[in-house]
Amino acid sequence: MLTVALMACANKQARLENECLYSSRNAQFAFWSNIAEQMEVRLYDDAQTTTFEAVPLTKGDDDFWRAKVRGDLAGKYYTVRSFQNGAWSEESPGIFAKAVSVNGARAAILDLRQTNPDGWANDRRPEMTDPTDIVIYETHIRDFTMSPNSGVTHKGQFLGLAERVDYLKELGITHLQILPFFDYGSIDETKTISNNVKPSQTTSNLYNWGYDPVNYNVPEGGYSSDPYNPSARIREAKAMIMALHADGIRVVMDVVYNHTYNAEGCALGRVVPYYFYRMNADGTYANGSACGNETASDHEMMRQFMIESVCYWAREYHIDGFRFDLMGIHDQETMRQIRAALDEIDPSILTYGEGWSATAPAYPAEQLAMKKYTYLMPRVGAFSDDIRNALIGSPFDHERGFASGNPAGVKDVMRGLIACPEWSGEPAQHISYITCHDNYCLRDRIAVSAPEESQATQLRMNKLAQTAVLVSQGTAFLYGGEEVFRTKRGIDNSYQSPDSINVIAWENRSQFSDLYTYYRQMIAIRRAHKGFRLGAADAVKEHVEFLPTDNENLIIYAIKDLEGIDTAKSLIVLLNGSAKTAEAEIPEAEYTVLAHDGEADAQGLGLLRTNRVTVEPYSATILAQN
Ligand code: CA
Repeated sequence: MLTVALMACANKQARLENECLYSSRNAQFAFWSNIAEQMEVRLYDDAQTTTFEAVPLTKGDDDFWRAKVRGDLAGKYYTVRSFQNGAWSEESPGIFAKAVSVNGARAAILDLRQTNPDGWANDRRPEMTDPTDIVIYETHIRDFTMSPNSGVTHKGQFLGLAERVDYLKELGITHLQILPFFDYGSIDETKTISNNVKPSQTTSNLYNWGYDPVNYNVPEGGYSSDPYNPSARIREAKAMIMALHADGIRVVMDVVYNHTYNAEGCALGRVVPYYFYRMNADGTYANGSACGNETASDHEMMRQFMIESVCYWAREYHIDGFRFDLMGIHDQETMRQIRAALDEIDPSILTYGEGWSATAPAYPAEQLAMKKYTYLMPRVGAFSDDIRNALIGSPFDHERGFASGNPAGVKDVMRGLIACPEWSGEPAQHISYITCHDNYCLRDRIAVSAPEESQATQLRMNKLAQTAVLVSQGTAFLYGGEEVFRTKRGIDNSYQSPDSINVIAWENRSQFSDLYTYYRQMIAIRRAHKGFRLGAADAVKEHVEFLPTDNENLIIYAIKDLEGIDTAKSLIVLLNGSAKTAEAEIPEAEYTVLAHDGEADAQGLGLLRTNRVTVEPYSATILAQN
């Protein structure tokens, strides 16, 4: 048994993240609740035992409940519970546990400094000179590593992703956005160890996207080599980040503050019942997430929780960016304060999210961080469903888009190319994309909307659509595996589909090497030409012109007067979204052909002196004026 000594704690700056401050001499506990009548911590000698030592907490004027326990508590576990409305809450690890037992049931006490992998002190964010240089690649740890052909030893793990950084470097992306890797609830971590070793010999489905948060400030145990060891997941997540940084790739974390796995069973709902959630007038949980609840970023301590949480990941794990799931559930003021707090750590940390919700949140619509208000949240980006729907069709139907032969969206493609200034504020706030983990992957999308076309034609449409993304003035975003023609076999919501559906089949890379090369070259073309990423909205207005054409399936996107900005005097992109070869008139000049008829080369495919060009069916021609 421990000797528990309770001492009056100094009233320090109230921070939610300091729920358990460890030193070798003592542990200081501090939990916030404005409604509790009593609170207590339960100290456990290990993760399983049911015997505990109860430590009563004392309320301070700031509504933080504190206790200090003498002794070196490393290796112990704790939970917290609160008494209000005549009843004790269930135990939980607290809202800001930084280390947990398997499946996140109890918080673990450890010295965080001991979780740093070798070399961590020298880990630095890779250079990033300009936010417009960014090319984001989204993946899931299992998608990326579980294939028998992944060449990865640590399949399904943080360490496995770290083994394939060279692939991402070769592709040329700058930021890796990883689907949720904080502790989530939908996978039983006790089952993942054997699975990691022998993926084919398990009957449990161990795949989930992970949009069901349990402990926001701890890495997911299912991605560690040993979910029973609280420090393993922390050390291995850091090792993954360090490996990516070493090859110049920044890491974006997918954060899901908009709802929790459940409300009654999660720490946010247990420690201070109802406070962190928006409630309906009838006492039920509001549900803008369509996952059973929605959090209340407009409540002071939920806002503070989000701010402290992202800052904790940025400082402790060196995370370089945050993608906010269903950001439209959060209020704009919270997003602005998150931006300001991250700026104090490093202004180059990215922030963007989904500017929508699943259903209407229980909050005034004009104050929410919806896409149309992006311009009110400087340097917070939003995904552009405008360019997505225009290029490949809306996820709510199976219609074709511009890139698959439907000219209806041509104006929206053009708006997307200039980063939808009516809502984006600055171009970098417009996340240009056509596919992500949600909805069909590109191969499947084109297959359902243009099923009568040959695969060769579908591949042309694929390249054309992605070309528009990569020449857009917004921030370019790619869904991982599109470059090797991944398929999810027609499943448009694979959140809990098995690995066999979700995994990227790396063997496709040789079969579809032409597609892979095209993606890699298009990324290189984007990164070589500043004209595709002018940066400021004013510059886009000044330099971009759409040249006239009477072909409704053709877009002629010209970026002019680039002396001093780009190596090219001007850039001309012709996008032909039809089955017919298109002809177009352009200013007479000598051009280097960067892309034509499904081929692309940043070094140039050849020279051309002309004022007329042809654009082959479903393809892009890109010209750089010499
Ligand atoms: Ca978990």
